[in-house]
Amino acid sequence: MDNHGDAQLLGPAEIRRLADKLGVTPTKKLGQNFVHDPNTVRRIVAAADITADDHVVEIGPGLGSLTLALMETAGRVTAVEIDKRLAAELPATAEWRAPGLADKLTIVGQDALKVGPEDVDKPTALVANLPYNVSVPVLLHFLEIFPSITRVLVMVQAEVADRLAADPGSKVYGVPSVKASFYGDVRRAGSIGKHVFWPAPNIDSGLVRIDRHPDPRWDMAARTEIFPLIDAAFAQRRKTLRAALGGHYGSPAAAEEALRAAGIDPQLRGERLSVEDFVHLSGNEVRA
Ligand code: SAM
Repeated sequence: MDNHGDAQLLGPAEIRRLADKLGVTPTKKLGQNFVHDPNTVRRIVAAADITADDHVVEIGPGLGSLTLALMETAGRVTAVEIDKRLAAELPATAEWRAPGLADKLTIVGQDALKVGPEDVDKPTALVANLPYNVSVPVLLHFLEIFPSITRVLVMVQAEVADRLAADPGSKVYGVPSVKASFYGDVRRAGSIGKHVFWPAPNIDSGLVRIDRHPDPRWDMAARTEIFPLIDAAFAQRRKTLRAALGGHYGSPAAAEEALRAAGIDPQLRGERLSVEDFVHLSGNEVRA
């Protein structure tokens, strides 16, 4: 195998043919909406700035639409798929559509939420059209267990994309926004209409890019102290931080003391706090 060449990407006819062959009826439970538009997958790969130096991990390759486009550009691709029928067919699809590139692909046939650091060899980028029902947990899980991932480009529901990329004070700023910002700079990277999918979902999708902080200003191990604070602050969105964090600190008075010590007004709500504020509040240092 010469390990180079172009892939023939999957259009509507190939997607239908593969689904017929496998007897696949896409399920909502697994968030199965397959992209049947080559331009969309090319756009995703370009937005992720993938090069031959990258080892890309893809979550939920499905019938292989995005996988083939990634194989054209990346040095290696590891694809994690929970659906056994889909996982089993991917090597054959790679041979069919990208015979010169098939060596680049490794399949991990399991639940992405249960993947551990030993299952994928130091990926440099995460690129995926995420299953909508587990999109945020799976994204945060991969950022946590693979510090080698420097870039993320994911397609998620438009509303989730907005939430991930929201700034403090925004109506949709919440747990996903703060936790994603703990790892890197998060921004919207485009919108995707419904017509590029089979079956077409009810809502539009959005692209989100995350660039991991190259020199994190806080200790990444402090995550275990910081994430419970974030969860507590947003569990009761309408309450002031003094009240919302009362349970976490033992009493509202103790919460007020911790907030004041961190220079945070106890009467604010969680939605005003940046990730830096949460790091301060946890007692960890925010480096300049
Ligand atoms: N990447 C393909 C594409 O763009 O056409 C398929 C994307 S589809 C939105 C989501 C894929 O994730 C499906 O193939 C589904 O079977 C898979 N999936 C769902 N839950 C999963 C999980 N927990 N772990 C790994 N894969 C999962």
